[in-house]
Amino acid sequence: MTGYNVGENEFEPRLRAVSSGLAERKLDSLLVSFGPNLRYLSGFTGSNGNLLVLPGGGILFTDPRYQIQARQESACKVRIAKGPLVVDVLAAIARLGLRRIGYEPARMTCDSFEALKSKLPMKASLEAVTGWVEELRMVKSPAEIARIRRSVETNSRAFEQAVSRVRPGMKEQDLAAELEYRMRRLGAEKPSFETIVAGGVRGALPHAQPTAAPLQSGDLVVVDMGAVQDGYCSDMTRMLFLGSPDAKVKRTYRAVLEAQLAGIDAVRAGASAKRVDQAAREVLKGYGLDRAFVHSTGHGLGLEIHEPPRIGKRDKSKLLAGMAVTIEPGVYLEDFGGIRIEDTVVVTENGCEILTPTGKELRVI
Ligand code: ZN
Ligand code: ZN
Repeated sequence: MTGYNVGENEFEPRLRAVSSGLAERKLDSLLVSFGPNLRYLSGFTGSNGNLLVLPGGGILFTDPRYQIQARQESACKVRIAKGPLVVDVLAAIARLGLRRIGYEPARMTCDSFEALKSKLPMKASLEAVTGWVEELRMVKSPAEIARIRRSVETNSRAFEQAVSRVRPGMKEQDLAAELEYRMRRLGAEKPSFETIVAGGVRGALPHAQPTAAPLQSGDLVVVDMGAVQDGYCSDMTRMLFLGSPDAKVKRTYRAVLEAQLAGIDAVRAGASAKRVDQAAREVLKGYGLDRAFVHSTGHGLGLEIHEPPRIGKRDKSKLLAGMAVTIEPGVYLEDFGGIRIEDTVVVTENGCEILTPTGKELRVI
């Protein structure tokens, strides 16, 4: 599905949502510098930008490298700074007589904060704003879901192409490189995180880095990969087995698959994130494996690979239709390895749509 255009109109309602919410938060403006938030509100994808959101719209500050790109991508007023952006931002704050300026403490370096604060006009103040834009980003538009879907499809195709080349003796690093090469050849800009390929006992490390170790007969192999396409992330984990799996591997695999299906089953608009996590965890408990499940069941994804909501033990937030989340229970046993199965799904009123097309059987090679 590729019928959605990335028109400038996509950004206007988002910017308006922030503009019109300023008064309620007793702010005159919000300063946004974090890439994904900047892109979400303005369309600008460059690496150096500040967006000053005002009641009537936004001003985008960037440097001369992005002079052409900023005007192509964004409908905001664009100001090209000759030096550090903060100088021009401060000049605008003074010129417009802004008093209360919201900033994103979780998204700003101490250096940037100090540079801004030290030269602020006398009557102006900086007000911490946490999670506002991230909250808007949680529920995806149909155009965003179409992009996530494409990213997921590219990722799954890259997986199939690379996995068909796996043989005993192939290095973890080489399989990771092959997966990333394939996703780029299929239209992705880059991987959405460092591809994980972990064979044998290394699979017990949930975030293992691929090594030069060869994949060997008897190895369980965790492959966790994601693509970024048109700015949007995908995320999938699948398991390979080289040789013939024994009873313990089969039983553990079945437990994780049941847990993953139970998690998916629990997803629907109105369900709490905690409840979804619990559904997956309970299944593993039935197999005596709950203590080997050392992370949360899933996370939101979109412009970033990890976004709110988190789907964990203590997350009370309610799922809403249009959220894109992963469901990825796993078990990690030292001296055995790890098993994780992960799909990307979109929350709907009555359940969810699983975007990941890849089959969930253990791939025996
Ligand atoms: Zn993953
Ligand atoms: Zn994930």
